[in-house]
Amino acid sequence: MKALVKARAEPGIWLQDVPEPAVGHNDVLIKVHRSAICGTDMHIYNWDAWAQKTVPVPMAVGHEYAGEIVELGSEVRGFQTGDRVSGEGHITCGHCRNCRAGRRHLCRNTSGVGVNRPGAFAEYLTIPATNVFKLPAAIDDEIASILDPFGNATHTALAFNVVGEDVLITGAGPIGIMAAAVARHAAARHVVITDLNPDRLELARKMGVTLAVDPRDTSLAEVQRQLGMSEGFDVGMEMSGSGQAFRDMLANMAHGAKIAMLGIPSREVAIDWNTVIFSMLTIKGIYGREMYETWYKMTVMLHSGLDIKPVITHRFPYTDFERAFGVMDSGNSGRVLLNWE
Ligand code: NAD
Ligand code: ZN
Repeated sequence: MKALVKARAEPGIWLQDVPEPAVGHNDVLIKVHRSAICGTDMHIYNWDAWAQKTVPVPMAVGHEYAGEIVELGSEVRGFQTGDRVSGEGHITCGHCRNCRAGRRHLCRNTSGVGVNRPGAFAEYLTIPATNVFKLPAAIDDEIASILDPFGNATHTALAFNVVGEDVLITGAGPIGIMAAAVARHAAARHVVITDLNPDRLELARKMGVTLAVDPRDTSLAEVQRQLGMSEGFDVGMEMSGSGQAFRDMLANMAHGAKIAMLGIPSREVAIDWNTVIFSMLTIKGIYGREMYETWYKMTVMLHSGLDIKPVITHRFPYTDFERAFGVMDSGNSGRVLLNWE
């Protein structure tokens, strides 16, 4: 089969013929229809320090996808060939304390599809049946291929109650923008998002945020004045990985506010802990998606009218992968899809 393979320990990705994956007795084989390129894939593409110590070469990468089941392992129940599916990319161990308690998202031994084991930039992918998510007919392949990052957004946006609250999101990447849409859908009052990139701020405005601002032009104190706020934001979602953005957020939160942190800083970030203490803030780290409560909530919100389609800005056949990765690398895109059909 054709696959985009991290074939060498150097920047780049290569389209190669590789053997179809073997299907274990608890696995399903998925024919991939669409896959989406994630920031993680760009780290692997650019072969940064994290990728070098994490990703085995050679290996097909990619973990955001939608497809169809074409083969079932002998022990698999509850699925049929022809089922349209996506999949949870964190494969959990099943025997640590949290897994056994049903808190699989807290597993301490996760293995990542397309990161630690072969991924979805390929014509076929195999994963354990327990990680398969069957798609409702109403969710098309394009939306289904971004359920993974939409799940990050949903997990973060629903970590704290946003009903009737003022929400600040730092970082208007695809995930920040989807989190803004979820907060809106979940009846937040003001949803303010910040970014340094004008194209991304524009996309955020299209998705219906209250205000999308570049903090270098408009301070968050000024934003609060414009919106008639005086006590600070009630819920923060850090989605940029920037220490500056996080410090700015801390300084503009209400007393007793809650912050969900998804963005991954590239180095240690120093903050003034006095702000956390005297403002009595709660800060919660968010990783991946809750299995499978986040998947359930995503589906229900899509059914009840939440539209995340505008986040998909580019579509390429998989043979055009060089252009697709180039667009992602430019930073001037939302999600970029590869078509494997
Ligand atoms: P992205 O890189 O596309 O978006 C980040 C955005 O932050 C960019 O648009 C960038 O311009 C903006 N930014 C940079 N500095 C800023 C600043 N000072 N103020 C405001 N905005 C600033 O990433 P994404 O795909 O949308 O993902 C969001 C973040 O979440 C990334 O850090 C990513 O690594 C992380 N992530 C975490 C998980 C997890 O499970 N914890 C999963 C996926 C992604
Ligand atoms: Zn576990």
